[in-house]
Amino acid sequence: MLSFRPGYISLYESGELEKRIKLLNAILEDCVLCPRKCRVNRTEDEKGVCRVGRLPVVSSFHPHFGEEPPLVGYMGSGTIFLTYCNLKCIFCQNYDISHLGEGREVGFEELSSMMIALQRQGCHNINFVTPTHQIPQIVSALPRAIDKGLEIPLVYNCGGYESTETLKLLDGIFDIYMPDIKYGDNDVAERLSSAPDYVEVVKEAVKEMHRQVGDLVVDKNGIARRGLIVRHLVLPEGLAGTEKVMRFIAEEISPDTYVNIMDQYRPCYKAHKDPAMSRRITTDEFEEAVRIAINVGLRRIEGVHV
Ligand code: SF4
Repeated sequence: MLSFRPGYISLYESGELEKRIKLLNAILEDCVLCPRKCRVNRTEDEKGVCRVGRLPVVSSFHPHFGEEPPLVGYMGSGTIFLTYCNLKCIFCQNYDISHLGEGREVGFEELSSMMIALQRQGCHNINFVTPTHQIPQIVSALPRAIDKGLEIPLVYNCGGYESTETLKLLDGIFDIYMPDIKYGDNDVAERLSSAPDYVEVVKEAVKEMHRQVGDLVVDKNGIARRGLIVRHLVLPEGLAGTEKVMRFIAEEISPDTYVNIMDQYRPCYKAHKDPAMSRRITTDEFEEAVRIAINVGLRRIEGVHV
């Protein structure tokens, strides 16, 4: 028996989950699920920027040991990689999935069985990778998974380009939010991800996520139970706007936000078309990013004892 009970089970028992599913699916009829606001009817399989229609599209699902330690624990994070994305990052490391559409349509029954399979393998959570454009489909599969015994936390692992209105409908469903904050400047967001309003959007979204789940809470084994994890990938030439991002987190979210500052940038997909993006970052660039985070007062930086 788990000492921690995910919120989605209570919502299911009270009938609230069914109401949310209806509201989320209604959005698909004139899709404004994310800030792209394509207004296509996805229930008729019309496709917008994200190129996903009515059914979930999944690339793969498996225990993942490369995620943040509080998610991985000792049995892995149960990742489900959703196909396509609402961001258009020219440097995406998963471009075969996010841009080229590797994956296949699955039914709700199959999606629920994936969750159960991951739980049976001992994973500590179900980690939906790039869920933003497929949220109604994911939540629609949840009741079947709950009926089959799902009881581990759900992770919303996203690029940060989220509609706050949609996020409000997820209150109590996701236990852990793990957004990227990719940029501190909109001109860079437009240049690299075709998202000219990214900065305002991600700030509002992360505030809403934090309002729902708070700072990260771990159990006695250090495994995440609930809360916010923020990822920030350091880019060459300071393009990620690290100082603005870290200042925002420390001053407008919480100095106790769990932050993963990532050093693994490498030029992928179409990154070579932007000269500044055609190299890895240097050790100095990474250390400077960490220094900035410490200096603005962040106290939970992954891998850093502050
Ligand atoms: S979820 Fe897809 S179709 Fe809907 S607004 Fe976003 S990009 Fe457009």
